[in-house]
Amino acid sequence: MNDNASGSIPEVYAAFSDDGGLLAIAGTTTTSNSTTSKSTISKSSLACIALEYFSEGGANVVYSLRPALVEKTIHGLAGARLGTTTESPNLARRLQGKVLRLRKVQEPAQGDAETTPYVPTAEVERYLHEGIEPRLGTDYLVKHDMIKVDPKLIKACNSALATGEEAKVRPKRRKGDRLNENEPHALLLDDMRPEPGVSFMIEFKPKWLSDSPNPQRLKRRRCRTCALRTMRNAEKGKKAGRSPTAGFCPLALTSSGAALEKIIDHFLFANGVQDHPLWKSHGDRVTERLAQDFTSGSTVTLLSRLRELENDLDPHGCLSFEGHQQLQNEGALDDLELAMTLRDCTIFARLTWEPSGPLELRLADLDRKDWRTRLERWCATERALIDGGWYEGAEKNADILRPREICQLWAS
Ligand SMILES: [Zn+2]
Repeated sequence: MNDNASGSIPEVYAAFSDDGGLLAIAGTTTTSNSTTSKSTISKSSLACIALEYFSEGGANVVYSLRPALVEKTIHGLAGARLGTTTESPNLARRLQGKVLRLRKVQEPAQGDAETTPYVPTAEVERYLHEGIEPRLGTDYLVKHDMIKVDPKLIKACNSALATGEEAKVRPKRRKGDRLNENEPHALLLDDMRPEPGVSFMIEFKPKWLSDSPNPQRLKRRRCRTCALRTMRNAEKGKKAGRSPTAGFCPLALTSSGAALEKIIDHFLFANGVQDHPLWKSHGDRVTERLAQDFTSGSTVTLLSRLRELENDLDPHGCLSFEGHQQLQNEGALDDLELAMTLRDCTIFARLTWEPSGPLELRLADLDRKDWRTRLERWCATERALIDGGWYEGAEKNADILRPREICQLWAS
């Protein structure tokens, strides 16, 4: 789940050019000297936008875009006054309803967080086109538009993040994370934020929609996601002051009745929907509508498609690739990689408070999970789950931070 700032991280002003979709720095305040370089921007199509910090995850920071006006001549572009996007209809169209995603430097992780090697934006974009779209189609994908970014702009964003840290308005667990100043690209993505008073949004990671194919002979009482969550909670329990992750069982996402109702309630709570002033008057209808969509609407269609792909792409589990076999199975490993990528996606559902309005679904966080750098860790996790008895519910000394069992397999 992404974090949002609790206060205001300084805005960064940028010049946006439709000529190749370049974002270059125009200053960090409306009165500062700008530093855009001469060679990179065409005078003909240039507008100024403010980048407003909006949220961040482990690998990216997301900015919303606001038309702005910087009353300064850009260095090296004498006479080129920056307009706003409203003065540049083409730019306005390209930026309308978009957010900007900039990539973080990924350094070795601390604690129990997973270390992930850096994946450049161009590679993220290529994988979306060549890996994901042919399998999943484009209807449910967040639309993406790759643009070039001036390194000076990323530097300015990093300074603003540091200022936000000093002012204690940036999420604590993201402290020290910085954007990659050597990354030449960024992605413009659909802005899935709800319209205040009209719609709201829930986001969730569906994780493993089928059980792991690995422990074939075990008498399973937990699915892969529930087994891993329970193991991680037990590890956390050994550290003072850590609380267990509640979570949900993904197998229940495509079920019905009380199990599904509990999950919907969990999503509404986790996304703060129940705190909204409209909840009191609209809560029942909203819950009913979601339940309907999860059992016979677009949500269950999407989840079923994801589950089908996971099963087709990973029929034997990562342990079947251990040892010498991996050298001969690159195609199958690419499939496993795609299955693992899909298992880490985020689903955004934006729907109106009034039941007659639309319910829109989009998938995001589909960054490639390169098997070359991850297979060993996937296998180690699988081994730990099997050997520790976490699938069977036969683990030892796991009761320190174990919440109530919620797995569909446990209940059946
Ligand atoms: Zn489960």
